[in-house]
Amino acid sequence: MSIIQTDALIVGAGPCGIFQIFELGLLGVKADIIDSLPTVGGQCTELYPDKPIYDIPAVPICTGQELIDSLMKQAAPFGATFHLGEEVIEVAKQEGYFRVVTNNAKEFHAKTIFVAGGVGSFQPRKPRLDGIDEIEDSSLHFKVKNPKIFAGQKLIIAGGGDSALDWALALADSVAELTLVHRRDDYRAAPASVAQLKALEAAGKVRIIENTNLAGLGIADGKLQSVALKSKAGEEQTLEADHLLVFFGLAPKLGPIAEWGLTIEKKAIEVDTSNSQTNVPGIFALGDISTYPGKKKLILSGFHEAALAAFAAKAIIEPGKKVHLQYTTTSPTMHKRLGVEGDIQK
Ligand code: FAD
Repeated sequence: MSIIQTDALIVGAGPCGIFQIFELGLLGVKADIIDSLPTVGGQCTELYPDKPIYDIPAVPICTGQELIDSLMKQAAPFGATFHLGEEVIEVAKQEGYFRVVTNNAKEFHAKTIFVAGGVGSFQPRKPRLDGIDEIEDSSLHFKVKNPKIFAGQKLIIAGGGDSALDWALALADSVAELTLVHRRDDYRAAPASVAQLKALEAAGKVRIIENTNLAGLGIADGKLQSVALKSKAGEEQTLEADHLLVFFGLAPKLGPIAEWGLTIEKKAIEVDTSNSQTNVPGIFALGDISTYPGKKKLILSGFHEAALAAFAAKAIIEPGKKVHLQYTTTSPTMHKRLGVEGDIQK
């Protein structure tokens, strides 16, 4: 796989990482941006897409998703390259650049790095069951990579959210047997999906087991054979199964960020407040992942930190060149970069 060379590599495509694209773009720096999730937005889209935010300056109210959509629109003129579904696992300093490697073996050589990793990368919540490591990805899955592998198989889906129900509905026709196991009897999934699944149950196409937890895995020759269940009332049963799909939601983990040689204080990266730089020159941190005396974990703090980091990084990327402060209102250079040259006199 070819190595991607970049002046600026942003790790994390939450609101602050996306705004970092904009601040770098104003200074003429094109960025690459990576996120372990398949979509941009970080906590805003993952945890509260429909909830209102009231404290973004000059935006009296917007939802988490609307904020991300606006930030993406604002950053669009700067043509950043997005690498989604890639978790950065390794950062190492080399002579004149940083070598950055993802879980899919994508390799970047970056002059500067901006860690905007929020509360860490979102990972699937895993049940505490013996044998998970042995069968993960072969017969126990936390996401669906290839739905065809379930055709004609006995499938158990665990969970009560949208992912669990959407996949139950999508796979019901192609599997030999489908059971949905949910620890409660009310669902986080869309009511329409719940109604559809109950209709399939009434038609005998799906079995639904509520108020029940996963209790154990029966494994033979490295393959799932059965799943043990235990109800809240203490009743136990074992179901034969070829595959188990678990959708217990996502939880953030600081994970590999803790191993990049950065000074970490209470799960956050210490930075210099004058330029958002970490203890490693050329690596900046911003947004929820950064800390300094008086830090407030708010989106607006991350926006300011992104501006400081962009100026400091520009001086590293183009050493010796003076970085002037310019206003977007009046700077022809910035208008050119924003692609709004024709609007100058308006
Ligand atoms: P995040 O949004 O956490 O994004 C970080 C991204 O980095 C994630 O997408 C993650 O997958 C990715 N990542 C992490 N590690 C890696 C890695 N190793 N490789 C690749 N990708 C990685 N703030 C406000 O200002 N106002 C509000 O009203 C408000 N309301 C909130 C309501 C709720 C319910 C919650 C949970 C938070 C709220 N916040 C609010 C806080 C706000 O969402 C955060 O401050 C903000 O999301 C931080 O943005 P970020 O870009 O720093 O990080």
